[in-house]
Amino acid sequence: MELSKKTLTLLSIILVIFLTSCTPNRFTFKEKRIIKRKSSNNIMPLMLVSNKRDSVVLYKVSKNIKADSTNKYLTRFIDRMYVTVRDPKNPGVGIAAPQLGINKRIIWVQRFDKEKKPFEVYLNTKIVYYSKEKSDGMEGCLSIPGYRGLVNRSDTIVINYDFLNQTNLIDTVSGFSAIIFQHEIDHLEGILYTDRIKDKSKITKIKKSE
Ligand SMILES: [Zn+2]
Repeated sequence: MELSKKTLTLLSIILVIFLTSCTPNRFTFKEKRIIKRKSSNNIMPLMLVSNKRDSVVLYKVSKNIKADSTNKYLTRFIDRMYVTVRDPKNPGVGIAAPQLGINKRIIWVQRFDKEKKPFEVYLNTKIVYYSKEKSDGMEGCLSIPGYRGLVNRSDTIVINYDFLNQTNLIDTVSGFSAIIFQHEIDHLEGILYTDRIKDKSKITKIKKSE
């Protein structure tokens, strides 16, 4: 059987589309569409655990993204994540990409352990060490508005991450910032803070989300 030129062209187009959508460390077509979608002040809508479709994204494990400061989708998304976590109407101390519908390993964390408490972005972050010393701390989540819960987490962690155009950086973090990192990195693994609380009486309803 001989394939016509037309069929061959069609097959190669399908193959190219398939390979592009499977390229590791890149945004998918669907993710690019979400990143491009316009909104007021660039703030992106938050995925909420109470919404069935959103919770599918929240409970999915995220993939790595290639650290590349020339990737305009990546820089645009990072900017939009920042304005979303800094939304004066609904501020947070950290945010993870799945909370905005993107299953990639990107987080913003406010570094309370640094001077001026800056917000910083981290790519492909993994925790490579957890201290045995743990404490209970109160947590809230932008994806679970109206609730707070007591979570037991390590006091100190060591993280391995990529910065926009640098790779394999290591940092030791303690205190409140370590809690934020553990909370945000959990999001990348498809874990919510409420999943870590066995005794559900430790989850309390509050008036406003925090
Ligand atoms: Zn959260």
